[in-house]
Amino acid sequence: MYSYSFDYQRAADPKSAVAALSANGDAKYLAGGQSLLPTMRLRLAQPAQLIDVTRIPELKKIAADAKTVTVGAAVCHADVAENAEIRRVLPALAALAGQIGDRQVRALGTIGGSIANDDPAADYPAALLALGATVVTDRRRIAADDFFVGMYETALAPDELIVAVEFPVPEKAAYEKFPNPASHFALVGVFVAKRADGVRVAVTGAGSSVFRATGLETALSANFTAAAARSVTVAPDDLNTDLHASAAYRAHLIPVLAGRAVERAA
Ligand SMILES: Cc1cc2nc3c(=O)[nH]c(=O)nc-3n(C[C@H](O)[C@H](O)[C@H](O)COP(=O)(O)OP(=O)(O)OC[C@H]3O[C@@H](n4cnc5c(N)ncnc54)[C@H](O)[C@@H]3O)c2cc1C
Repeated sequence: MYSYSFDYQRAADPKSAVAALSANGDAKYLAGGQSLLPTMRLRLAQPAQLIDVTRIPELKKIAADAKTVTVGAAVCHADVAENAEIRRVLPALAALAGQIGDRQVRALGTIGGSIANDDPAADYPAALLALGATVVTDRRRIAADDFFVGMYETALAPDELIVAVEFPVPEKAAYEKFPNPASHFALVGVFVAKRADGVRVAVTGAGSSVFRATGLETALSANFTAAAARSVTVAPDDLNTDLHASAAYRAHLIPVLAGRAVERAA
């Protein structure tokens, strides 16, 4: 039987979490464990130490006002989905969180773990990118446009700890995804955000990493209607083909889902 041992440490505050990780080059932060633990079970990662960040009070906070929604890195998906203030101020974000995985994944998985992992089919990256969010870490603020670098790759330094994500509140927004029926990961997911300075559209599940759909942004900034979204043609050239869907099918879905998001935007 396969087994290996590792140390487990529970951090009380961001400073001690970062110090513990910096002291052990082979350590990893542990949040909900919904991505990291399967990776360890598959023997794709064997960290010598896990530093649990889910009991750090600063990482558990949610705050919302008319301009900004702030979600602590260790807030689980279910708490975002059910939070009354987020549902009132930024309902698209609550609805997105409520569509992640299943009940168990939503009860354990966190926003910080999701964006640090940066799975190309994860839902939260689309919200961060479309809303123009800011990732707040233990040492700096990173614009979402600079945060997602590539497949499973972010701008984070190896020991950098995500503390929170700040979302500016848009005029209207919605997220539509075509989920894989088994995992609920996005075959394609499209987040549309209408802001005072124009419309931003981010697509997940279709490429090697989340990306902005500039053709849709231009069309929807001129005319915020489902028909305008559906009139846009997306080239399949850089999109994924896998056993779930071809690049051409994903390219077809992007304007269709964008049109549905425009219809539902609130
Ligand atoms: C069956 C199943 C279905 C799923 N379906 C979906 C889905 O439909 N949509 C979707 O988006 N996701 C889905 N997921 C993934 C899920 O959302 C995970 O919660 C998420 O990918 C990782 O979050 P976590 O809190 O579990 O992080 P962990 O697994 O604990 O950690 C993931 C990575 O992030 C790092 N990390 C964690 N917290 C921090 C932090 N604060 N700062 C810096 N680094 C940190 C860890 O070191 C690790 O490298 C699914 C997962 C499963 C198991």
